Amino acid sequence: MKFNPEKCRIKDERMQPFIDADEIWDLLHNTVPDRQKVKDIIARSLDKNRLTLAETAMLINATDTDLVEEIKEGARELKKRIYGNRIVLFAPLYIGNKCINNCRYCGFRASNKEAIRKTLSDEEIISEVAALEDNGHKRLILVYGEHPEYDPDYIAHTVRLTYEVKKGRGEIRRVNINAAPLEIEGFRKVKESGIGTYQIFQETYHPDVYKLYHLGGKKRDFAYRLTSLDRAQEAGIDDVGIGALFGLYDWRFEVMGLVRHTNHLEACYNVGPHTISFPRIQDASMLDFEGRYRVTDEDFAKLVAVLRLAVPYTGMILTARESPALRREVMQYGVSQIDGGTKLEIGAYAESLNELQNLNKEQFMINDSRSLNEIMDELISKEYLPSFCTACYRLGRTGEHFMEFSVPGFIKRFCSSNAILTLSEYLIDYAPPATAEKGWKLIEGQLEQLRGFQDVDEIKRRIERIKAGERDLYF
Ligand code: SAM
Ligand code: SF4
Repeated sequence: MKFNPEKCRIKDERMQPFIDADEIWDLLHNTVPDRQKVKDIIARSLDKNRLTLAETAMLINATDTDLVEEIKEGARELKKRIYGNRIVLFAPLYIGNKCINNCRYCGFRASNKEAIRKTLSDEEIISEVAALEDNGHKRLILVYGEHPEYDPDYIAHTVRLTYEVKKGRGEIRRVNINAAPLEIEGFRKVKESGIGTYQIFQETYHPDVYKLYHLGGKKRDFAYRLTSLDRAQEAGIDDVGIGALFGLYDWRFEVMGLVRHTNHLEACYNVGPHTISFPRIQDASMLDFEGRYRVTDEDFAKLVAVLRLAVPYTGMILTARESPALRREVMQYGVSQIDGGTKLEIGAYAESLNELQNLNKEQFMINDSRSLNEIMDELISKEYLPSFCTACYRLGRTGEHFMEFSVPGFIKRFCSSNAILTLSEYLIDYAPPATAEKGWKLIEGQLEQLRGFQDVDEIKRRIERIKAGERDLYF
């Protein structure tokens, strides 16, 4: 996406650090919550407006129980009204844990001499991807430490390799990346390998606090990391994911940082983040973290609701760092993607690599270790519509979240219909009979709701084609 002179009219702010910590704290300190204003702001969000920093501060500062309930109810309503009951599933695949950095919260940090360093060989990557396909996955995020070995050519190679693995009826249709920041040329190379989203978390948006947690390596440079997704945009990657590691600093500041990052991307590139992630810090080998800013479950639920309202068009990712119970609660406030069957040890998915898995430790502990099918079964029972859809990105319909959000009927016409088709594949190829039975009932009900938006008879014909052995049908 090109620089938008209309919006960046005052000065070109591309590649410029955009966080002013004093401005954010001024807003947080000086915004007095006002009952009517909070209600008006929620209404503005429900009218599909991205909130300003001042409006976000107003929601953050609203602490009366009834107002917090209104914020959560607003987020619930926004999800229901705009996105419906669809939840997209993915899995992380750790490619290598070599790392030159020293992030105090991470088990992969260079100073952790206990960690056994390992990069998967091509054969091992193929085994891992095949094992994930055998579970039913279609969307992966490849994760790497920061190391000269994981250069753009290597990342691009692993992406291509992942797409090539076809096990039975399985295939990976979308590969996202979570890796170190690159130069523009590097991002270009990785883009050419056909990635979906490039995700980089700022960890903390406070420049001074950032220095306290990042003791060495390239990651110590706050501004270089902050502007990494600008370089991705300059390289033509307009599908970027932002995030903060909650618990390093005051959660209220981090929510403001995420919104500031959003409006920077919008202003300079005319496109906001494709996804926002809000990982909470988890226990890890050699964790060096005093816990002063640990986020309670209650604040976590509120911050997810505030983010949903603040950036109503973006995808929101909730990972297996959180427990099943908390995921169940928080999902209703606007989460659109979750991982399932997650394992973080290098080589953990393929049985043939079990020995490897026993050798190395994961980057941090997870709290939801259920299999993909256990999660699918629960989603279906709770009348969520699980989806493995990858249609927009493959049809070149980029900015899909924005279309879902802004084009009336888009979700029913495309997203729900494709969710049904990808769920049908899953039920036939991977689900045990009990899950399949519930799944087909869910599909029947969902089809009824699509009448008037999509040709339901055509969806039914495609389901029959899937039953007859065709795969990868989408609108
Ligand atoms: N090395 C790259 C980087 O730092 O951006 C990418 C991979 S890193 C393995 C992915 C993310 O895991 C980090 O951005 C950080 O937010 C998160 N993470 C690290 N340690 C964590 C912990 N103890 N608990 C939860 N998340 C953690
Ligand atoms: Fe390395 Fe990333 Fe872990 Fe930091 S968070 S130590 S950069 S793997």
